[in-house]
Amino acid sequence: MKIEKIGSRGTLFTFEEPESLLGEYSVYLIEGSNRLYLCDTHLGPRSMDPIKEHLRTQGLDKPLVIFLSHSDWDHIWGVSAFSNPLVVAHVFCARNVMQRGPLELQRYASYQNGDVTLVRPHLTFDSSILFADDGVEFVYTPGHTDDSAICVDHQDSVLYVGDMVEKPLPSIGWHDLEKYIESLEFIGEQRGQVIVSSHSGIVTLEDIEDNLDYLRQSQEMVEEQSPEADEDRDHLRKLYTLLLYEDAIANTIGQGFDYASFQRQLWQSLDMDYLTSISSLLNNVDYEELKLALESFMVEL
Ligand SMILES: [Zn+2]
Repeated sequence: MKIEKIGSRGTLFTFEEPESLLGEYSVYLIEGSNRLYLCDTHLGPRSMDPIKEHLRTQGLDKPLVIFLSHSDWDHIWGVSAFSNPLVVAHVFCARNVMQRGPLELQRYASYQNGDVTLVRPHLTFDSSILFADDGVEFVYTPGHTDDSAICVDHQDSVLYVGDMVEKPLPSIGWHDLEKYIESLEFIGEQRGQVIVSSHSGIVTLEDIEDNLDYLRQSQEMVEEQSPEADEDRDHLRKLYTLLLYEDAIANTIGQGFDYASFQRQLWQSLDMDYLTSISSLLNNVDYEELKLALESFMVEL
């Protein structure tokens, strides 16, 4: 593990292969005057051992706030390593942890690092929440997912942006690319900040520009109606179509939406194993067949 000091009160912990089955991955700790703030938690309680060890050896025993940058499984599984944290996240993140969390625990079981228990965030926010005495703020920046948020350290001018920025290409987990672009432009406008990401360490304004270019191209690609598709475009439009319908189906069903049963029914109707990872399901499904299956799911509601 690589441990780096950032600014006057930040520490960046970076897991590298083979420590992290996901490749490079960082969590960020801010030592506030009144509380400690830990941004994201990697793949399970065991992943958090070096962070706990650091807190012990540095004598850091203030109340702990855990900020979840979004609800993806590789960010939330380590929460249960800590005995009494205040877990803060966007209101959609809290919903998604409970709605999608159980299936993802099964689907990505081989990645669990220790015995994972899902923890529902305790404190949620809509647009932002400020810990004024410590100068630490969490701000809603939808894009990578519908529940993505960033951490702003006002004292040190550091932004922790989770998966909103990634090198070389951003990762799309929500269909609203326009919102993703708006949020990235907002992040890029925060001049003079050190920008820390989950999967690419410290990123620059150029990286953000590259991500923006890709998102604009992606927007054009999914809007194009031409049937010919190269491999990249084919994968992108399958992903986009799945995300678009998933949202529409969830909104149509409302409160009673059951993510696991939606996924089970959908992939079983295509004769595929729904417990396989989404990326391999998408690799192996045909675009037209996926679209038809989603349309008929929608019609039957
Ligand atoms: Zn991630």
